[in-house]
Amino acid sequence: MSAVPLKNDKPVQAGVRTVTVLGATGSIGDSTMDLLRGAPGRYRVEALTANSNVAGLAKLAREFDARFVAIADAARFGELKDALAGSGIECGVGESAIIEAASRPTDWLMAAVSGAAGLKPALAAVDRGTTIALANKECLVCAGDFFMQRAVKAGACILPADSEHNALFQALSSGNRDELTRVIITASGGPFRTWAPADIEKATLAQALKHPNWSMGQKITIDSASMMNKGLEVIEAACLFALTPDEIDVLVHPQSIVHGMVEFSDRSVVAQLGTPDMRTPIAHCLGWPERIAGPAAKLDLAKIGQLTFEAPDFARFPALRLAYDALRTGNGATTVYNAANEIAVAAFIGEKIRFGAIARLVDATMNGWIRAGNLAPLGSADDAIAVDHNARNMAASLLPQIAAKAT
Ligand code: NDP
Repeated sequence: MSAVPLKNDKPVQAGVRTVTVLGATGSIGDSTMDLLRGAPGRYRVEALTANSNVAGLAKLAREFDARFVAIADAARFGELKDALAGSGIECGVGESAIIEAASRPTDWLMAAVSGAAGLKPALAAVDRGTTIALANKECLVCAGDFFMQRAVKAGACILPADSEHNALFQALSSGNRDELTRVIITASGGPFRTWAPADIEKATLAQALKHPNWSMGQKITIDSASMMNKGLEVIEAACLFALTPDEIDVLVHPQSIVHGMVEFSDRSVVAQLGTPDMRTPIAHCLGWPERIAGPAAKLDLAKIGQLTFEAPDFARFPALRLAYDALRTGNGATTVYNAANEIAVAAFIGEKIRFGAIARLVDATMNGWIRAGNLAPLGSADDAIAVDHNARNMAASLLPQIAAKAT
C-alpha cells in the first residue's frame, strides 16, 4: 500500500476546501497563494507559517483572512502581533506554533518549509491523515521510508508537489505499480552544466543563483547548481514510490520541458511535459483528483523547436553520485547527506567555503559517519532528528579542514 495515490479514484470534494500553507512566504508558498488567489470562494485558509518574514506573513494573513499564523523566529513575534493587531487573527511563535498550524484540521496542506526544519510540521500533518502536497523534499530524505510508512498508517494522502515527482505521479496513473520498470527524472543541468571543473570549483554565489529555467528559493537554487537537488530528488523518488536506486535514472534536459517519465514493462515510456512553472504541479496537487485551471504559459513545442537530452556527468557533479551512494547505504545515510549539505550550503552563502567544497564536505561527512560506525536504521522521527543533529555537528567540525584544503 502506498501513501501516494496511484490512481485518480478519490471522489471529488464538493464545497469550500480548507487549506494550510507551511512556508507561505517562500517561493513555493508564493505560487500556492497565487493559485488560491485565482479561485476565490473555493478555498478557505486556516493557517499560514513563515520563519522570520513578518511583513510577508501578515500581508498574506490579512489578504486571505487566515485563522492562525505562526512564525518560527521568536525575536519577530512582537512585530507579528503588532502587524496583525485588530485583525482577530490568532498568532503563535516557535517550532511548536508551526506544528500547531500543521495540526489544525484542514482538507489540504502544502508542506513548503525549506530544509529539515520541515520534518516535524509535516509529520504533524501526516498524523492527522490529511491530504498533503509535499514540496519539502528534505523531510523525506531526512526521515527516509519512515515518513511514508507513518503516512500509510495514518491514512494520509501524499501528493508529490516537486515538478519531477509530480510528473512521475501523473505518468504512473497510466499503468499499475507492478508494471513499472524504471522512472526517469530530468535535470536542467543548472547554470554550470557546460562549465569546466576548475570554473565550477570557484563559482560565486551570484553565479550559482542564476538558474537557467526555474525561479526558486535560494537554497534549492544553489542545490540545483551543484546537482545536489537532483540527488535529493533521486532519494525523494525512492521514498515516494518505493523504488530501488537502480530503478531511478537522471537525464539532463536543458530545456526543462519534460519533467519526468515512467517506463513500463512493455517498454512504453509515459512522460509529463509543461513549461517550467511550479504553479503547474502545485495546481495538480491543489485540484487533485480534479484538474483545475493553471496560470502557466501554454506549452508551444513548435516555438521551442528542440528538446535535447544528455547523460549526467557524475565526475563534475559528485553530489549526484553521493546521493546514489547514500541511498544504497541506507540506515540514516540519506539523512547525513542532507544534513551535511545544509551546513555546506550555509557555509558557501557565508563565503566560508568554495562552491566545489559543498560536495567535498558532504562526502567527508558521509565517510566520517560510516567510519565512526554510526549507521543504524531510523525507527522514529526522533531517530531521524538525532541523526540530522549529529551529522550537522560532524559536518560543522569538518568544515575548517575542507575550507582550508586547496583542490
Ligand atoms: P524558500 O526559501 O523560498 O521558502 C522557504 C519557506 O520556509 C519560507 O516561508 C520560510 O520563511 C520558511 N522557513 C524557512 N526556514 C524555516 C524554519 N526553520 N521554520 C519554519 N519555517 C521556515 O524555499 P522554497 O519555497 O524554494 O522551497 C521550499 C521547499 O520546497 C524546499 O524543501 C524545496 O526543496 C522544495 N521545492 C522547491 C521548489 C521551488 O521551485 N522553489 C521546487 C520543488 C521543491 P521566511 O520567508 O520567513 O524565511
